[in-house]
Amino acid sequence: MAQTEPDTEHTIDSVGWQFDNSYARLPESFYIRIKPVPVRAPRVEILNHALAESLGLNFRTLSETEAATLFSGNILPDAAQPVAQAYAGHQFGSFTMLGDGRAILLGEHITPAGDRFDIQLKGSGRTPFSRRGDGRAALAPMLREYIISEAMHALGIPTTRSLAVVTTGEPVVRETLLPGAILTRVAASHIRVGTFEYAARSTDAEGIKILADYAIHHHYPDLTEADNPYLGLLHNVIERQASLVTQWLLVGFIHGVMNTDNMAISGETIDYGPCAFMDAYDPNTVFSSIDHQGRYGYNNQSRAAQWNLARFAETLLPLLHPAQEKALALAEEAIHAFPGIFQNYWLSGMRKKLGLFTEEAEDIQLIETLLTLMHKHQADYTNTFRAMGSKVLPEKNFFLDDAFTAWHAQWQARLSRQSESMESSLNLMRMNNPAILPRNHRVEAALTAASERGDYAPMHRLLAAVADPYADAPEYLDYRTPPEPTERVYQTFCGT
Ligand code: AMP
Ligand code: MG
Repeated sequence: MAQTEPDTEHTIDSVGWQFDNSYARLPESFYIRIKPVPVRAPRVEILNHALAESLGLNFRTLSETEAATLFSGNILPDAAQPVAQAYAGHQFGSFTMLGDGRAILLGEHITPAGDRFDIQLKGSGRTPFSRRGDGRAALAPMLREYIISEAMHALGIPTTRSLAVVTTGEPVVRETLLPGAILTRVAASHIRVGTFEYAARSTDAEGIKILADYAIHHHYPDLTEADNPYLGLLHNVIERQASLVTQWLLVGFIHGVMNTDNMAISGETIDYGPCAFMDAYDPNTVFSSIDHQGRYGYNNQSRAAQWNLARFAETLLPLLHPAQEKALALAEEAIHAFPGIFQNYWLSGMRKKLGLFTEEAEDIQLIETLLTLMHKHQADYTNTFRAMGSKVLPEKNFFLDDAFTAWHAQWQARLSRQSESMESSLNLMRMNNPAILPRNHRVEAALTAASERGDYAPMHRLLAAVADPYADAPEYLDYRTPPEPTERVYQTFCGT
């Protein structure tokens, strides 16, 4: 071992890493310097070579053992400065001090294009923030994050990415013994609303300013010159979250745990736990087994986002204006604008789903009538919109209903009032109504095959299918079939 290690280290450093560690240069209160806890027998289960390439990295030169050593954190890249990040969060409304209890940020990789990405190992062992947790992750949930995050990326929705999953060769104790695993997560950053909540409560008065300046510098550099950069930060984060949550709703995505520690300041979707895509349209859909009140159900997601953004705004109060009352007024004004901003994004996205290029005041009614009908019929959300973008509607119950026929006539009349051709409308619809999503029953089947039988074929095929969600790929037609009643997944679990 003593002889092979220097070589392995050398090879690991030859893959193209360009590390910088700007987060680890923040004041010490923002993190704890700590290394991943080594694992016994790491093995690479999946490696995202396409993502690696887009980052200017090449792992094809590594042997399987070397790759496993790297993605388990058993050996770190030379320039990495591993830290566990400190943060707090409101979880289902209650405030808690948190922090990376099972993740380590290795550092930030700078791509050849100059973009900066966090490289984080999730499931990497205990840290001082672990509380009662074991610091580890089970294989299935890490593969779940891999599948859904890559599908979200293919859909064009801002998200963290997944570079690799390794198994650790060590079991984790959950309700049963499960294979342990580590996910390598790639993110614009891991700064959360909860990071600001942490800074506001536990660093000195300078702390929140340092964090805000850091977030502006990395995610909203245009604000550096603004009159009030901190108010600009608040407005920009509100915009990005309104846009993000809209994009979730437009594809039927339910995040499931929109706690403030799971909301990224960058505007990326982060922390895939009990998330899922809705099959039959029902605005009240809740998947998460721990979300008893439906707080984070499909239709509550914009409200949850606004609530989280209000917590964010509170942390910025001392920076918004020296006079407390004025600061509060600015924050309130920004937060109260959220529903309007969200509604505009949503209307604009829904218009595209219906092939509309222009705006008419009655569009909202047109959309809502359709959704109400879909709800009544439990129409499949994805397939219904996709079908409406084809020339001939399928002979399905929903499309044969008199109420739909009446709606359809209204919609056709609406389409004919714009100058764009029917062909352009159908194109717009095909680009905005995905054909293939990682439907929950297929995700669960792929995870079971992989984690219980070591059979990765279903997962690879699913990943290939969701990689091109807007295509009519005949070979992947089966992924478009909604679950049979017996296949339907009603609940998803955090399964940490
Ligand atoms: P999550 O539900 O993954 O967003 O995690 C919420 C908080 O719990 C974070 O602070 C995590 O680091 C921590 N956590 C989750 N699972 C574990 C675990 N198995 N061991 C230690 N900490 C954990
Ligand atoms: Mg989290």
